Amino acid sequence: MDHSHLAANWADIRHRVDEACRAAGRDPSEVAILPVSKTFGPEVVRAAMALGLTRFGENKVQEIRDKARALPDAGIQWVMIGHLQTNKAKDVARLASEVQSLDRPELAEALDHRLRIEGRTIDVLVQVKTSTEESKYGLPPAELPAFLDRLARYDTMRVRGLMTLAIHTQVPEEIRACFRQLRELRDAAIARGHDIPRLSMGMSGDFPIAIAEGATEVRIGTAIFGRRPTSDSFYWPETGQ
Ligand SMILES: *Cc1c(COP(=O)(O)O)cnc(C)c1O
Repeated sequence: MDHSHLAANWADIRHRVDEACRAAGRDPSEVAILPVSKTFGPEVVRAAMALGLTRFGENKVQEIRDKARALPDAGIQWVMIGHLQTNKAKDVARLASEVQSLDRPELAEALDHRLRIEGRTIDVLVQVKTSTEESKYGLPPAELPAFLDRLARYDTMRVRGLMTLAIHTQVPEEIRACFRQLRELRDAAIARGHDIPRLSMGMSGDFPIAIAEGATEVRIGTAIFGRRPTSDSFYWPETGQ
């Protein structure tokens, strides 16, 4: 199969991210791109690796498992960005280099338990629900201070920042409000002494707004890999889209 579109897409999105940084008065080196390879197979990931990409975001544990098995020696860092059931903590503890969807105490407990067994320490971001939609996963903002204090007691997880999904809408100001809230929550946590500089926010459709509001990392799927064969309802079943 021909993957030549990947190189062009990658150059194009890096350029658009850089432009969004400049428009926001930020240095492009401050904003990383996390390629989101969900639904695309190991051969596509391998083609992306040929472009120098080594971190890949995935939404389902099963996909990390399948791709990790197909690409055992590739040195890939798998980043879990999707809703994680407690009973899947074992595979994540074994295979993921980072979890960005840590959103509740029971999951932290399960991950800690499994990471101990594996003898591993990973980076985590806390996923916060900034959208007013019923459907989105994430910790309620009011619970963040207590959750961060609680996470400090685990030495298996290094909390590095916050992650969110913005509201699904065409109204830019509503999207912006989600991203702004995440930045304000991070700044308040830093003021309380937590070392959590990272903000993972923005996707193919809304990354310029996220960058204007302080994203340090944008999660990009479609703009790199193309349209997904399955609809997002498969990934966010609760949205009923
Ligand atoms: C799929 C997904 C993305 C990437 O979405 P695109 O619109 O394809 O860029 C980002 N974050 C999460 C949590 C996702 O599930």
